[in-house]
Amino acid sequence: MARYTGPVCRLCRREGTKLFLKGTKCMSDRCPLEKRNFAPGQHGQSRKAKIVGYGLQLREKQKAKRIYFTLETQFRAYYEKANRATGVTGDLLIQQLERRLDNVAFRLGFAISRRQARQVVRHGHVEVNGRKVNIPSYQVSVGDTIAIRENAKKLGIVEAASAYAAQNHSPSWLQIDFPNFTGKVISLPKRDEVSLPVNEQLIVELYSK
Ligand code: SF4
Repeated sequence: MARYTGPVCRLCRREGTKLFLKGTKCMSDRCPLEKRNFAPGQHGQSRKAKIVGYGLQLREKQKAKRIYFTLETQFRAYYEKANRATGVTGDLLIQQLERRLDNVAFRLGFAISRRQARQVVRHGHVEVNGRKVNIPSYQVSVGDTIAIRENAKKLGIVEAASAYAAQNHSPSWLQIDFPNFTGKVISLPKRDEVSLPVNEQLIVELYSK
């Protein structure tokens, strides 16, 4: 699966908000957005027009795609599936994004960012119900147990991320066992349980045109 490999801080500057793509750096004064809170590129500082209508919808979609590191085709497929299902389309879209294995690994504290979590999954360090799964887009289900594989527990990045995550708030739809690098999905994520700076209704409006 293709993925974005360019500089990620540019993405935050483009959206004009912190997308928290680089873990601890995002919380520090080394975050480029602290000093250069304008769009990247030659005309970044001069382009200050107010965004409305289609532009606003487009920016919300781009923001969500960038937070979860998905590309357009896959993101659109999530929307199509959410649109076909019974329920609130925006909520179901966010639910699918949250159920991605790389996101769950990040939420469980196996990595300090979704990008790092994606790498941890791709390198085969994560197992679901005792079986290795190295597909970042794998959708977890209620009752699944997600864990770091035995030989990866001593990885520096995993230990550091777990210590960092232990100090932070854990999502209520996941049961986390930090010392054992394990977590369980106890329910599907509801919109109010997901902390995400995105207005998904604007994304639905954009795609339903
Ligand atoms: Fe975004 Fe984090 Fe880079 Fe700041 S440090 S611009 S929040 S990715």
